[in-house]
Amino acid sequence: MIPDEAELTAGVKIEPGKSYGFFTDTTRCIGCKACEVACKEWNLLPADGLHLTGMSYDNTVGLSASTWRHVAFIEKISDGDGRATEMAPYQSNWLMMSDVCKHCHNAPCLEACPTGALFRTEFDTVVVQQDICNGCGYCVPACPFGVVELNMIDGKAHKCTLCYDRLKGGLEPACAKACPTDSIQFGEVGELQQRAHQRVSELHELGVDSAYLYGVPNSPGATGDLGHLNAFFLLTAEPEAYNLPAAPSRASNRVGPSLSFGLAAAAGLALAAAALFGWQK
Ligand code: SF4
Ligand code: SF4
Ligand code: SF4
Repeated sequence: MIPDEAELTAGVKIEPGKSYGFFTDTTRCIGCKACEVACKEWNLLPADGLHLTGMSYDNTVGLSASTWRHVAFIEKISDGDGRATEMAPYQSNWLMMSDVCKHCHNAPCLEACPTGALFRTEFDTVVVQQDICNGCGYCVPACPFGVVELNMIDGKAHKCTLCYDRLKGGLEPACAKACPTDSIQFGEVGELQQRAHQRVSELHELGVDSAYLYGVPNSPGATGDLGHLNAFFLLTAEPEAYNLPAAPSRASNRVGPSLSFGLAAAAGLALAAAALFGWQK
């Protein structure tokens, strides 16, 4: 059942000092791509993906400097579980999911940015200031979700702004506004999390046992040292099926072992050099 729109997105009062985000319920997505188009139109992003990708309907393939919303079409063989209970076993079905910047509570991209171009707005979202970005690219590997990318034309970092300009004008983001099924719901993060937990309970009652939340504390898809994600998801398959990491973490933690190894190796070399130097004296 598609809820009354008034219940979901309309009437959200947007005020500085509160946290706003998206609840993307993948079980409501029909793959129409209205969100991708609305994002490009509002943010004046160029068309892309107009070449044969060999990936069927997924013409934009992933998030990029010019695609800030990406609708993934994932063809999955049913094992008779979860969403596909009414289907014959081993029939294929679609998982559809509109991906976006997660506007992480602890945002590694923001922590990595040396210029302050990436900043946290008064709406608790993460935005790149184009006039300050120097194109160093440190934010790119820092993001555990592969969201932020340098634009080859201006050399600067680009990603979803959660329609910062629209929020300042009291308007919900373009993608949420355009979504005809309310698969993308915009609102205050705490309120969205409550709504999402309710939706998971409803789906479990309907027999979709595989439904869970990704990016919400105390849920199977909790996101460790990133804290909660302001843009979070209701999924029905493992995170990797949607190209999401099962355990996203900060780059410093991801490179921890190799960095430790590097430091240990450097210390070893220094000791060896000191010993050699001492022996020659
Ligand atoms: S998803 Fe990536 S780009 Fe978006 S806020 Fe988190 S770290 Fe930054
Ligand atoms: S490319 Fe721009 S936004 Fe990214 S880390 Fe460098 S200055 Fe910051
Ligand atoms: S607009 Fe809504 S239903 Fe259509 S692809 Fe985007 S998230 Fe899915």
